[in-house]
Amino acid sequence: MKKILVLEDEPSIRSFVVINLRRSGYEPIEAATGEEAMERIRQHPDILVALLDVMLPDIDGFEVCRRIRATGSKMGIIMLSAKSQEMDKITGLMTGADDYVTKPFSPAELTARVDALYRRIGGDNVEDALSSGPFLLHLHSRTLDKNGEHIRLTQTEFTIMKLFMNNPGRALSREEILSAVWGEDYSGEVKIVDVNIRRLRIKIEDKPTEPEYITTVWGYGYKWGY
Ligand code: CA
Repeated sequence: MKKILVLEDEPSIRSFVVINLRRSGYEPIEAATGEEAMERIRQHPDILVALLDVMLPDIDGFEVCRRIRATGSKMGIIMLSAKSQEMDKITGLMTGADDYVTKPFSPAELTARVDALYRRIGGDNVEDALSSGPFLLHLHSRTLDKNGEHIRLTQTEFTIMKLFMNNPGRALSREEILSAVWGEDYSGEVKIVDVNIRRLRIKIEDKPTEPEYITTVWGYGYKWGY
């Protein structure tokens, strides 16, 4: 699992961040104070990314960042700071942070930054996620992001996306999709493929009536056009 430290003293913000990270396939490790954060890092040496709030009741986020770097750790660090703390950006980056996000932030913005940092530090191995154009398919949590925005998929839709993203540019016949997704023994009609593709297009295409990702191969089937 992709462990990520979430240091934030405000319980409501912390749970908001935790819920969204979990939804994106991360395993958040929570801390409410700087001291607690250092303790969690000792307990979980496999934490690869840390989100550090700047304003904390004990040692501040910058000091935590400094202490993490002092241990020789190369983990990715994102500072969370209020908008008024513009100067903090500079201080934060000087103490060894990789990125910063200003409050208030949207879940999509935060997870996009975390995903990007995770990829930069090499935490995302090949088996963990498939990426194609604006899409990132998380194989562990079975979720899909488009431009960092979470898209809700049914298990069937997820399996179709995985098939497409594993076969970019290849025309897949409807029968082939049917047996790969529903199984060889499925006795229903092949029409179920079209029904699911139509629904999937509504979810993932910019314009479902003019699909550019899942394109139709007339008289045959479908193709992942990326
Ligand atoms: Ca705070």
